[in-house]
Amino acid sequence: MPGASVKQNRLMRPGYGLACLARGDRLVPWTFERRGLQPNDIALKIQFCGVCHSDLHAIRGNSRFPLVPGHEVVGEVTAIGAEVTKFRIGDAVLVGTIIDSCGHCSSCNRHLEQYCLEGVTTTYDGIDRHDGSITRGGYSNEYVVDTHFAYHLPSGLDPASVAPLLCAGVTTWSPLRQWDVGPGKTIGIVGLGGLGHMAVKFAHALGAYVVLFSTTPEKLASAKALGADEAIISTDDVQMAAQASRFDFILDTVSSRHPLNPYLRSLKLDGTLCCLGIPKDMDFSPVLLTMGRRRLASSGVGGTLETQEMLDFCSQHNISADVEIIAAADIDNGFERLERGEVRYRLVIDMSTLAQPTGDAA
Ligand SMILES: [Zn+2]
Ligand SMILES: [Zn+2]
Repeated sequence: MPGASVKQNRLMRPGYGLACLARGDRLVPWTFERRGLQPNDIALKIQFCGVCHSDLHAIRGNSRFPLVPGHEVVGEVTAIGAEVTKFRIGDAVLVGTIIDSCGHCSSCNRHLEQYCLEGVTTTYDGIDRHDGSITRGGYSNEYVVDTHFAYHLPSGLDPASVAPLLCAGVTTWSPLRQWDVGPGKTIGIVGLGGLGHMAVKFAHALGAYVVLFSTTPEKLASAKALGADEAIISTDDVQMAAQASRFDFILDTVSSRHPLNPYLRSLKLDGTLCCLGIPKDMDFSPVLLTMGRRRLASSGVGGTLETQEMLDFCSQHNISADVEIIAAADIDNGFERLERGEVRYRLVIDMSTLAQPTGDAA
């Protein structure tokens, strides 16, 4: 199906980046075409792109290959469509995980585009709504996007450290806001990776009392340095039993299957456990929901309004991700370290190190 339905467009733009040519392969330099500039589009030269766990899942999963990952994008506007007023050439610009939606359903009308009833167009491995081409992500030289899904770089923040706000940031910001995390609330964060470290920073800055749960003793001190008031080893049954009925809200950022009962027991009456990871199935006892009218919930990235709200908050509170910048050639090693849990807390590729492949476009 992919390719056959692509309307040939002479104005498509040549691009190049790092691609996974077949499931599980290492990434290699690759040339491709992306959509031509539409009237409300901007083109941006990509400067930094964050490395998300989703990128690794996509490489190993049922994606359309070749696959160019990357959905935490920072760049500079190099071209604008005829109707663009939001950006000027030279502006610093951000692109996240969603680049299009239907624009008229009940979710889109509320700027909750992530829940578009017709399905969103993802930044990579999506089907472009204009020309049917497959979207190619930010591990590349350039992106073309409708300005509705592009954001200005917040003032005062380092561009590379802002990149992860577009996925890890807004994925944690959205549920923290949805469940009114703020002063007077006791909040648990499970896991201290790319998502968890942002959740700790946000919950602390929002004024909540923040408790971090981790299986890794070395992360307890790090969590406190990031703003957690307490940090607890989640495999310590005695410590976990002492948390009973204590929390208003717990945000679980762990993606692998793990027992949820200790967290459900830790919720107060009407408390909510929101799980951001999507394991194949969940390990919990439904009776723990009945006891205490507790809720088990989930949440997916964020819409355009929430994203802008988060970026404004980050600018006001001087919040960005803790990142390690790597060269494009080091991406496979980066994925291996990500998988081993060795990254503190987000890898970001310096896209200026991306070499243009020689030879014809694929
Ligand atoms: Zn992501
Ligand atoms: Zn929609």
